[in-house]
Amino acid sequence: MELITKAPKGTVDIVPGVSEKWQAMEAVFQSEAELNGFREIRTPVFEHTELFLRSVGDTTDVVEKQMYTFEDKGGRSVTLRPEGTAGAVRAMLENGLYNAGYPVKLYYTTSCYRYEKPQAGRLRELHQFGVEMFGAAEPAADAQVIAMALSAFRRLGLEDVGLQLNSIGCPQCRKEYHKALKEYFTARKDQLCETCLSRLERNPMRILDCKSPVCSEIAKGAPKITDYLCEDCRAHFKQVQGYLTELGVEYELDPGLVRGLDYYTRTVFEFPSKSLGFALGGGGRYDGLVEEMGGKPTPGLGFGLGLDRILMALEAQKAEFPEPTRCEVYIASMGEAALKKALALTDALHKCGVPADCDLCARGLKAQMKYADKICARYTMVLGDNELQAGKADLKHMKTGQTKKISIGEGFVDDYLTASTAQEDLSF
Ligand SMILES: [Zn+2]
Ligand SMILES: [Zn+2]
Repeated sequence: MELITKAPKGTVDIVPGVSEKWQAMEAVFQSEAELNGFREIRTPVFEHTELFLRSVGDTTDVVEKQMYTFEDKGGRSVTLRPEGTAGAVRAMLENGLYNAGYPVKLYYTTSCYRYEKPQAGRLRELHQFGVEMFGAAEPAADAQVIAMALSAFRRLGLEDVGLQLNSIGCPQCRKEYHKALKEYFTARKDQLCETCLSRLERNPMRILDCKSPVCSEIAKGAPKITDYLCEDCRAHFKQVQGYLTELGVEYELDPGLVRGLDYYTRTVFEFPSKSLGFALGGGGRYDGLVEEMGGKPTPGLGFGLGLDRILMALEAQKAEFPEPTRCEVYIASMGEAALKKALALTDALHKCGVPADCDLCARGLKAQMKYADKICARYTMVLGDNELQAGKADLKHMKTGQTKKISIGEGFVDDYLTASTAQEDLSF
């Protein structure tokens, strides 16, 4: 048999055996966010294209090269979200979430879409955990958001994740900086790639994250934003560092860190994995974005973490994950009347939270027991005409082989719980 098609390039299936790892990983980030007062938001996978042009910026790599944009049957241009922030801002405004009081704290676990050359840790459908906070201008908010991500990394057991920190200032201080950048790059104009030539006029800062080797070599010698920060931005950045130190968070200042999206202001940060050699995620402040998207001036900040990369990091260090849910009781059956009973008994167990299963493939008894072994069922029961008549059956502990007769009538669940508790006590 030949498959009609394969999964598109740059996508992965998350199958049983791996999905449990995702659940465990996501649970840590979600619980850490909730400890910090964040609540979950889910936004559509596609948005009006305009949303990303306005927020991410039309001179960014993401918008210029990577978006999945198409016209729907109604002739509207829509785009699969390339990142999580823009949708969260739109939803915050559209649903008036600010009415509940500031700060608004949101988190999401989501997939994003970027048409890039797929490589290790860089997929076209990528998975992110992100948070956004609105209405908090204080440097303490920056520190809380950063510390929260690092705390989740530590809880997962990732000890080699660092923090790189920079400030890219506000529109005021950036004016001077843009001027200096433009001067610097204009003098080296004939070496820049074509994309960067157009950026030179519209947004010289984007040249700093061009992936072309020549441009990035030139960018290394470019003026640093930190030399151009205005007094307020400088003070904000100092305070962020002070709070981080107070929280025991170590960081490295990286004046070359600008992040590839236009909406960032002031604090920007990344979390590099020292063993993998790339960042597991990052974020920053975007104090002008809400206004840019039609809301009242509202400070904002957040981060996006690449879950695909984080799982790579966890697997590289052979992290342990919780065991998947295992079948407690497998109820084998012979004949239709017995199957009916087995189905009812497993249903009764499910209602008490006990994982249980029975035969759904019309297998013989021997094959059923082999299957029970394969799924590592802790207990088995066999139902046939005799058991139905007697109203009792043997509950067998698979490892010890010990059995105990229990009711398969009214008292079934109680009998099962008593017998299994006694069994487990014996084996420890
Ligand atoms: Zn400034
Ligand atoms: Zn370039």
